[in-house]
Amino acid sequence: MEQRPMSRLIIVSNRVQPPSGEGGGNQGGLAVALSAALRESSGIWFGWSGETVDEFTGKIDFQRNFGVTTATIDLEPQDLDEYYNGYANRTLWPLFHYRVDLAEFESGFAEGYERVNQRFADTLEPLIETDDLVWIHDYHMFPLGARLRQKGIRNRIGFFLHIPWPPYRLLLSLPNHRELVETLLAYDVVGFQTRDALECFHDYVRNELSGAIDGDRVTVGDRTITAIACPIGIDAENFVEASQSSAARYAHYRMRQSTNGRDMIIGVDRLDYSKGLEERFLGYERYLSSNAGQHGEVFLLQIAPPSRGDVQSYQEIRSSLDALSGRINGAFADVEWVPIRYVNRGYPRDKLAGIYRAAKIGLVTPLRDGMNLVAKEYIAAQDPEDPGVLILSRFAGAAEQLTDALLINPHSPEDICDAIAQALAMPLEERQARWRACMDNVMSQDVVWWRKRFTDALEGTAAAAAA
Ligand code: ADP
Repeated sequence: MEQRPMSRLIIVSNRVQPPSGEGGGNQGGLAVALSAALRESSGIWFGWSGETVDEFTGKIDFQRNFGVTTATIDLEPQDLDEYYNGYANRTLWPLFHYRVDLAEFESGFAEGYERVNQRFADTLEPLIETDDLVWIHDYHMFPLGARLRQKGIRNRIGFFLHIPWPPYRLLLSLPNHRELVETLLAYDVVGFQTRDALECFHDYVRNELSGAIDGDRVTVGDRTITAIACPIGIDAENFVEASQSSAARYAHYRMRQSTNGRDMIIGVDRLDYSKGLEERFLGYERYLSSNAGQHGEVFLLQIAPPSRGDVQSYQEIRSSLDALSGRINGAFADVEWVPIRYVNRGYPRDKLAGIYRAAKIGLVTPLRDGMNLVAKEYIAAQDPEDPGVLILSRFAGAAEQLTDALLINPHSPEDICDAIAQALAMPLEERQARWRACMDNVMSQDVVWWRKRFTDALEGTAAAAAA
């Protein structure tokens, strides 16, 4: 079955994540899975270097790390403002997370986005050889496939969207939404995280483009592409190993000492308005208000490293969380107990795994999330004999797979409060049964499964065309 020679893979994403060679599972799952495929196929990972230059030159910097070739280009400061901080993070990110109220529609952002995608196409095109598979990632790069086609590239090109796809009526508020969506027709395969996202895409195609859906096939005019739901997973085996490493064991031991017999609830999120952190704090506050007997018995450790600090809505969420955590702690804390430990920094993955394992509850309550890998990491890090309980937003992509978690509406403080009470009182047998069901999914639909499912679909399209 796996005997056919692998086509060379070219991966394109805004930032490249070359392997660092670190042990102990300290690398993100995506980097591990994609690096393995790049190594096997002698492929290339192409993207922005993270650096800026005064004037764009198109010079490609090639590097080779641990058997993986990366090719990066520098962008101009204006590109960064308009394409990255602008169109990607102030227009598309909020809108695709259902926050049209936060989306900024500036024509300069859209122009910068087009310009940078053209720059990617111009510099990438000479690197593409006849049989290469090209796999483009995420909302920074919607038009790249179409720009490559305009330059004559006939290869199989796939696109995977890591974030949600919004309901079609919401998408109509994006100026030029049609041009943006039509660029997806340049791809052979388009992958979404969930059935829900795929169905929203279908709705748009049917209603706005007068297209037709037939199983995985989407046809608009004379163009047919494959569109699939293909949920991303974590590097599960590696994460389980990381959770048993000595660094994890030590972190677990230290955490247990510091909890002093109290039940710990953990939240781990980039500081982002899509993560529902305010709503989470309010739900926990509700729990504290209605369970006075639990004061001093439970606490919430919220780890939230700041991100995208150049964008105003991120500065605002940060200060409102500072205020809210302070207010809740002020209202409930005692000399020996603080209800919320609010920490704004990152931790190595193995240490994080040990911290997850020490928590009775994983509290994952995004208002909208493409997938949410923290939910899967929390499951993978648990002790099978005495696992914690995952409380998961029904609006995280992961909720389509982790159906045995306690699924909640993250907008409802009552739901969060009731789920915390239910989780803390849950008998061991039920905790084990729920955890096992979630763990089966985390292990079987891991990041390698995801990568194969997508690249198999992409390779399959060429076979169909040749037949
Ligand atoms: P997003 O991609 O929107 O940030 P995910 O939950 O899908 O959300 O992925 C977040 C990743 O970042 C996870 O792998 C998680 O372990 C990692 N992460 C989040 N916060 C921290 C932290 N404080 N320290 C280390 N890793 C973190």
